[in-house]
Amino acid sequence: MKRPGGDKRGSAANRRARKWWMLETFGTGRKCPCVHCGKRLRFSTVEADRIIPGGSYARNNIQPACRDCNLSRSNNPQWRRGA
Ligand SMILES: [Zn+2]
Repeated sequence: MKRPGGDKRGSAANRRARKWWMLETFGTGRKCPCVHCGKRLRFSTVEADRIIPGGSYARNNIQPACRDCNLSRSNNPQWRRGA
């Protein structure tokens, strides 16, 4: 059963691939910092934060964020940690 608008997040395999890609591209491959607060993230804690909120999960629209920053930022692209 497909959700209206499609499932942008993709399959579990897509999500895993995305996490590894962020760890690889923004960090050492095993760890990378949250782009907002600098907290060290690993596979189990990294989340894909969309640069354009509500946009796609394409590689050019995602950056690594911790859960806390990702939730705080929500759909506000102007949000900055501590601002
Ligand atoms: Zn953070």
